[in-house]
Amino acid sequence: MSVGPATRSLLQDEARHAPGLWAQEVGFVRGEGARLYDADGRAYLDFAAGIGVASLGHAHPRLTAAIAAQAARLVVCPQGYANDVRTEFLARLCELAGGGLTRAFLCSSGAEANEAALKWARAATGRTKVVAARRGFAGRTLGALAATWEPRYREPYRELLCGVEFVPYGDVEALAEAVDQRTAAVVLEPVQGEGGVNVAPKGYLAAAREATRAAGALLVLDEVQCGSGRTGRFLASHHDGVGADAVTLAKGLAGGVPIGATLMTDEVAGALPRGGHGTTFGGNPLACAAGLVVLDELTEGGLMANAAAMGERLLAGLRSLVGPRVREARGRGLMVGLELRERAAPVVAELRRRGLVTVAAGPNVVRFLPPLNVSPAEVDEALAVASAVLAG
Ligand SMILES: *Cc1c(COP(=O)(O)O)cnc(C)c1O
Repeated sequence: MSVGPATRSLLQDEARHAPGLWAQEVGFVRGEGARLYDADGRAYLDFAAGIGVASLGHAHPRLTAAIAAQAARLVVCPQGYANDVRTEFLARLCELAGGGLTRAFLCSSGAEANEAALKWARAATGRTKVVAARRGFAGRTLGALAATWEPRYREPYRELLCGVEFVPYGDVEALAEAVDQRTAAVVLEPVQGEGGVNVAPKGYLAAAREATRAAGALLVLDEVQCGSGRTGRFLASHHDGVGADAVTLAKGLAGGVPIGATLMTDEVAGALPRGGHGTTFGGNPLACAAGLVVLDELTEGGLMANAAAMGERLLAGLRSLVGPRVREARGRGLMVGLELRERAAPVVAELRRRGLVTVAAGPNVVRFLPPLNVSPAEVDEALAVASAVLAG
């Protein structure tokens, strides 16, 4: 087969300009559990999981069976009609989220979930200003991009983006100062992902809750990456006991089938006029059937508890690497970052050469996002590879 440019996706081409981070010459054709295999049968330990997407690992038997069964039953059902699987999924999702988040807009990606949150926030407050955090990531579409900090992503579209004020993440005073009577929403990740795996300092989310409530603004928590059980609780904000007006989810929520969700209170949900928002693929029974298996595995299957335990094991092991090349290991549950004193890309590449797939988060952080059912032996194997590359 000739491999011309047309056979590569546009994003695959980017790997050529970011050597190390990705690897155009590596191709995966199959997966099983926490393993990925290339066409030659070489195995890799997958501690990226499609950037926190494959929460049950690859080819999970129950997930695979549920997708196949639903595909044979009903793939599409417009949200204007009822659907049994969607109803059950929504009931379980809202129950797990708790905190008065009783309504959900279902879509197909994280950016879409954040777009919806911004629309609802404008409708609920009649205001337009948004406050977001430096190093925050909300997506690449023109609405969500406004709340994404990275200037390289945002600047070319400056005049198209709604007004967002960025404040240093974790700084209570700066946040309180930025939130005022014109603020529609504060958008924050309880654990920043792309920005380098930064866990909200104790009290920060509570302070954001207080500031937004006092100003009549909404608190929108972007849990697209840190939610869906990854940190050991269903929502990362559950660690802080802070409730939001809206929470967005996507990535791991359906174990790899595209899904997004904007959870919100009844009050917020009622603010958008009828017909004010919509989507074609969102909430389709295929994604909901996959999501149901994930929710069941997280709870009955014990995966949130496993994420907490394996996260501690991984973090403790990575902490022992702190030294001349490693500045810090940090994270929550199975969302872990290793901040280096050097650039991350060559290290990500070397780990991959030795069979461990990770993903960078910013210029000098290596991010570990294994499947939530990863085993102690797999964690130890990853630690051995990381240690061989970085110790000393
Ligand atoms: C990945 C991510 C998004 C965007 O999700 P897409 O599905 O890529 O649109 C938004 N917010 C956070 C925190 C993310 O990690």
